[in-house]
Amino acid sequence: MITLSFHGAAGVVTGSKNLITVNARRFLVDCGVFQGPKVLRQQNWAAPPFEPASIEAIILTHAHIDHIGYLPRLVRQGFSGKIFATAPTVELARILLLDAAHIQEEDAEFRNKRRATSHEKALPLYTTDDARKTFDLFVPVAFHRWKKLGDEIRFRFHAVGHILGAASVELGLDDGVKKTSILFSGDVGRYATPLIIDPVTPPQTDYLVCESTYGGEVHEPQDIFFEMAKVIDEVIRRKSVLLIPAFAVGRTQQVTYIIDVLIDQKRIPSIPIHIDSPMAVRVTDVYRRFSSYHEINSDALRRVKNVFYGRNVKLHRKRKSSKKLNRIKGPAIILSASGMMTAGRILHHLINRLPDPKTTVALVGYMAEGTLGRRLLEGEKMVYIHKIPVEVKAKMVTMMGLSGHADSYELLHWLEPWKNHPKKVFINHGEPLRSEAMARQFREIKGWDTYVPALHETVEL
Ligand SMILES: [Zn+2]
Repeated sequence: MITLSFHGAAGVVTGSKNLITVNARRFLVDCGVFQGPKVLRQQNWAAPPFEPASIEAIILTHAHIDHIGYLPRLVRQGFSGKIFATAPTVELARILLLDAAHIQEEDAEFRNKRRATSHEKALPLYTTDDARKTFDLFVPVAFHRWKKLGDEIRFRFHAVGHILGAASVELGLDDGVKKTSILFSGDVGRYATPLIIDPVTPPQTDYLVCESTYGGEVHEPQDIFFEMAKVIDEVIRRKSVLLIPAFAVGRTQQVTYIIDVLIDQKRIPSIPIHIDSPMAVRVTDVYRRFSSYHEINSDALRRVKNVFYGRNVKLHRKRKSSKKLNRIKGPAIILSASGMMTAGRILHHLINRLPDPKTTVALVGYMAEGTLGRRLLEGEKMVYIHKIPVEVKAKMVTMMGLSGHADSYELLHWLEPWKNHPKKVFINHGEPLRSEAMARQFREIKGWDTYVPALHETVEL
């Protein structure tokens, strides 16, 4: 018997955990944490609905924390199998998981000091030690090469854009009675975005699990180089500061690259760029090392060292130098994480600069429900950061051209070469309305049989 259970990213965007069973064998595709509102985050503390030690192996689509962030917790609870991922995903995962563990430890320590928790000692979800034990289990696997895990299961990765090393996963399954195949889309990237490779259409499979982050929506066409030049021109004219909250993985490197190209083509004058995220600095090194996994124009490739670290780019590793940025005057650009503004150094920049009408804040990525980023995106004029009320007078600009996620037409385009109807298309990784909209589009445009599974639902394939 072959079954598939959705233990995350069902009804929400985060917490991706797909359990595949083939007779008695069990595998996971992705192992992420829930993020966003507290009710969701609390689910990270619940016992997993499967025995961690019974999972034989985990296959990862990409290194975002909502797809990998639960790994050390699972290791802590007894998982000791292999974790398969592309080489850049492995490298990025090491950086991200160590960082996540640090934050967990610091947070527990802080709450214990303040006695903010009423009951016993606050504990981290996992420790840096758990994260390090996870690293021993990683096995890098190249794109397009079949990897066999016994007679029952084999898989291969297909490049899917989105971030460095991201993949969709094609599985071939055989329970001795029937053979079937399934594709997990992972997070599908956009076409023709700077630095990121285009998604590759995988071969047709019997079943499909497709994300729906932007289900039913279409990103407005935007020339991102032109938009960025326009925003920076204004920042220079007003001698103001452009604050860009950006994911340390992917978006920071993309923005730095775009600005480098604009300066190189003399479309904008050189402007100081401050990268205020120690993690972004480490991630940028991985981007440099795996240059064959992204797309950089040939001119830039010749000076690849300078692309991410040009003379005008200053990296801020220490907290003290981050705080000093509060005093700088424009024109300047500050890039800081986290991208959805839920934690990290970006918060002190926002407290400091949101009340200043001279500041421009560029929103360059997906903002999940319940995050500060989403409230700013929706135009709120008063927000609370660390319980401090902060007036929003800064100018907000959105650049969805930099979104790492395909819109619904791009998803349809990605699957255009599929001429047969899959047996069933499961729509996950979306807020309920977006998943429903994506399901409707597959149904109406392609005539496909779609289904939006509930959290923890199990289906037989
Ligand atoms: Zn992602």
